[in-house]
Amino acid sequence: MTESAEVVVVGAGPAGLALACALRLHGVAVRVVDQAPGPATTSRANILHARGVEVLDRLGALGDLPGRSAPSLVLTTYIGGRAAIVTRFGDAGTPRPALVLPQTDIEAQLRARLAELGTDVEWGTALTDLVEDEGGVTVVLDGGRKLRAGWLAGCDGSHSTVRKLAGIPFPGAPLTDQWLLADVHAGWELARAGGHGWAHKDGPLFAMPMPGGEADDRWRLMAYLPGAKDERLTEPEILAAFRRLVGERAGLDGDRIRDAVWASVFRVHRRLADAYRRGRVLLAGDAAHIHSPMGGQGMVTGMGDAENLAWKLALVIQGRASGRLLDTYQDERRPLATEVLRNTSATTRLQIGDGPLLRLLISWVLAPLGNHPAVQRRATQVASQLGVSYRRGPLAVRGSLLGPDRRPRSGDRVPDLPCADADGHVTRLHAELRGRWALLATGDAAEACRSEAGTFLGDRVVVLTPDGWSTDEVWLVRPDAHLAWRGRPASGGLTRWLRGALQHGRARA
Ligand SMILES: Cc1cc2nc3c(=O)[nH]c(=O)nc-3n(C[C@H](O)[C@H](O)[C@H](O)COP(=O)(O)OP(=O)(O)OC[C@H]3O[C@@H](n4cnc5c(N)ncnc54)[C@H](O)[C@@H]3O)c2cc1C
Repeated sequence: MTESAEVVVVGAGPAGLALACALRLHGVAVRVVDQAPGPATTSRANILHARGVEVLDRLGALGDLPGRSAPSLVLTTYIGGRAAIVTRFGDAGTPRPALVLPQTDIEAQLRARLAELGTDVEWGTALTDLVEDEGGVTVVLDGGRKLRAGWLAGCDGSHSTVRKLAGIPFPGAPLTDQWLLADVHAGWELARAGGHGWAHKDGPLFAMPMPGGEADDRWRLMAYLPGAKDERLTEPEILAAFRRLVGERAGLDGDRIRDAVWASVFRVHRRLADAYRRGRVLLAGDAAHIHSPMGGQGMVTGMGDAENLAWKLALVIQGRASGRLLDTYQDERRPLATEVLRNTSATTRLQIGDGPLLRLLISWVLAPLGNHPAVQRRATQVASQLGVSYRRGPLAVRGSLLGPDRRPRSGDRVPDLPCADADGHVTRLHAELRGRWALLATGDAAEACRSEAGTFLGDRVVVLTPDGWSTDEVWLVRPDAHLAWRGRPASGGLTRWLRGALQHGRARA
């Protein structure tokens, strides 16, 4: 017998879990399959930037994570044995700063939220094939079991089987040679308040304390191996290499490394899928884009994809929008991934400092600049992705009569404004979104606009009044907290925007 779902999500990493939670909030029936036998126990990421934290909040999946996070990520870079740059990453001046926590904790919180929303991950369930037709997708699972779904979301990571089966090219190239990676127990007298990086002529070495407090002696070690392209090293070999390298590059005692929790070798690639959608197959997260882990942009970008895709897919499934709305998913998200690839590649090239000229530039020009608080604030702001805007996308109203200086503009992110709901209860904009749209308005305009928007969006619209709201304008905020439209009530603009976006995938002013 073939089982069925409205959407099958392949992959229970951060992107797949965020997508599944968001779809459930929009009322969509979803199945999540993952080939792994159970949740990952080792973490790749250790920072989720601010925009990703906002996504967790809007999904209702933040739980107690903020209380468990370190306040910021501090990286001390040593050049010639001297602490030359102290970089503070983390607080982009938002109520929801970055979380400095292992990826496993974030995934666990997302799984718990998904279970609350009625869906559990089906572990040990690999997708092996897919067949698409006009009415949906038949997903073939390991062992020949079949699932029938209206839509298939490939959130199955960088080696995505979904992407390959859908025939979506993933062009790109390796960015670096190989890196050694290990999480080890080591008894060093090295401050655990932040990470450490040593610039060295043979390549940098990093030691990051793994969360667990002062009592824990777990460190994440990463060392660059210029010239190494295809080394296949066993765990004991990697450990032996680190025992030597920490001495050579950082002056640390290699004998103090007791054991490794896990170890691996990886090479940084930059690749971007040619398309995020082919028919009824969609891609999100690392399945659509991979880049350097320097700067920690993987989870925030994948979870942002998920939130953007979820409301569009839900409207199409519910028959409220045409498939053209789904094309705006790629139009809005792929330019951001292009920028992430560019920025992380530039940072990585600086980190590996290949060549004597670049090393001189780093020591004498970039090190002093890197210590400057304004430079660090700017770096944190960019990494936070709070400034991501879809102004240039197809859903943004251009040439608005509001003038260029009025913020936010159609397509911009709307911050988490304190608001009152229709009954006068104090609340926050982002807490009210959770699978809904918000109309920010007052008085009679609010109810009139609610019924106008309801024609297109049903009962998924909440009316809110921000604190100190003193305009007779109305704002329509999308479920992913971007401004859809702003303007005067009863001007016809709201209906024009909704009709254009939902039916044609284009904003009409
Ligand atoms: C060393 C390192 C450090 C990093 N540090 C950071 C950081 O600090 N911050 C940050 O944001 N990012 C960081 N990243 C990147 C981050 O880990 C990834 O971007 C993120 O895990 C991608 O999430 P995803 O859900 O797209 O894919 P994944 O996490 O890769 O999840 C894909 C899932 O799909 C499953 N799957 C694969 N194929 C199939 C199949 N055929 N059928 C069923 N299931 C399948 C897999 O089992 C897996 O569970 C780091 C990466 C590395 C390598």
